[in-house]
Amino acid sequence: MKPLEICIIGGGAAGFFAAFAAAETRRDSAISILEKGPQFLSKVRISGGGRCNVTHTPGDVRAFASSYPRGERALIGALQRFQAADTIAWFETRGVPLKTQTDGRVFPVSDSSQTIIDCLLTETQRAGVQTFTRAGVEQITRREAGPFELTLSNGFTRTCDRLLLATGGCRTPAGGGLAVSLGHTLEPPVPSLFTFHVQEAWVPALAGISVESVEASVPELSLRERGPLLLTHWGLSGPVILRLSAWGARAMHGVNYECPLLLNWLPDLNREQVATRLQALSAQLPAKRIVNTAFPPLPGRLWEQLVRTAGISPETRWSALSRSARHLLTEHLVRSSLTVRGKSMNKDEFVTCGGIPLREVNFKTMESRICPGLHFAGELLDIDGITGGFNFQAAWTTGWIAGRAMAAE
Ligand SMILES: Cc1cc2nc3c(=O)[nH]c(=O)nc-3n(C[C@H](O)[C@H](O)[C@H](O)COP(=O)(O)OP(=O)(O)OC[C@H]3O[C@@H](n4cnc5c(N)ncnc54)[C@H](O)[C@@H]3O)c2cc1C
Repeated sequence: MKPLEICIIGGGAAGFFAAFAAAETRRDSAISILEKGPQFLSKVRISGGGRCNVTHTPGDVRAFASSYPRGERALIGALQRFQAADTIAWFETRGVPLKTQTDGRVFPVSDSSQTIIDCLLTETQRAGVQTFTRAGVEQITRREAGPFELTLSNGFTRTCDRLLLATGGCRTPAGGGLAVSLGHTLEPPVPSLFTFHVQEAWVPALAGISVESVEASVPELSLRERGPLLLTHWGLSGPVILRLSAWGARAMHGVNYECPLLLNWLPDLNREQVATRLQALSAQLPAKRIVNTAFPPLPGRLWEQLVRTAGISPETRWSALSRSARHLLTEHLVRSSLTVRGKSMNKDEFVTCGGIPLREVNFKTMESRICPGLHFAGELLDIDGITGGFNFQAAWTTGWIAGRAMAAE
């Protein structure tokens, strides 16, 4: 009997995981990975600054899924079938020990993405999966419910019974062209996980300063996040900004990355507590210059800048701080107003928001609801996570489910 022919378009994390899952499920199937580039897993190589943040520390599936601005609901069921703990076990049982950092990110102990690539390539060979580079798929046709016919960039054609599209995030609508040619639609792609340029000149002057916990909000877009903040040469970065950019990816695109931003530098205190602390310093250190006073947890240079921005001269001593000036300083500490003027992509991890709408896919099998036999996995779907290993986990999970389903009877 002719073996089941499975073709996987895209040799990235999702495509490789789908290939293993299919090979494990049905040993007599013929599985091929077709990759348009000269090498496989090129994003794995550059990921996590070359260390590959494979996944995030496992936990309750619902809590884990809440780290996906797009895809949260669909991923709850999917993660119940293959979650972060399964990813960790998968790599460790194949000789790749992993470690978890205090921030929850999981990396190979080697701190090298090459370890992950070597493991995936070795396991593919062992599973008998055929792999082809420089084999971009340019066209897919299908007559009725017959096999898929693929036209490749290297001049070859192939046919298959089951097909997986794992072509990665589409930075332009053309990236989703193959799916569209088979009847699917596309949520327009926009960037996620970016850092902010800001108009205020004092911010770049403090480049390199970080604050452990800041609350950043964009009231007009109903966005609010809390976490570490980094001041950079162009504006603001750090987990709080990346999270804000992920949740606000579409809304911020809508305002052309120009909007007011509020920062609360002391989110653990309320306004009254901040005012009381300033009043206490006036009483305790009347002769000391305000800018020279330690004000933990704020770094000294940032405190000095915030005092100046509140209109208080560097010469002012606590005894001379008027009630209205104290009020202004309090406001500045809990509600600094800045202006976002553009964005830069985060160099360690950037993903696309948008792709195949999740309503067009059955998440139990990752099969298309429009074209039977066609499956989807990875970033091509309208799923994206915040930084920290969530994007790879979505690729492993959806790839694994798709692979098993494609090879099922
Ligand atoms: C710089 C950077 C760092 C990152 N770091 C992390 C991290 O540390 N942790 C994390 O969780 N996420 C990280 N990400 C995100 C993560 O890399 C992606 O979410 C993940 O790679 C998606 O996997 P995928 O298999 O869906 O797509 P991809 O890895 O993009 O693979 C898709 C493959 O399909 C191929 N392809 C496309 N079209 C065709 C075609 N027509 N025919 C044949 N082949 C085709 C492409 O060449 C590509 O190789 C990072 C992203 C970037 C850009």
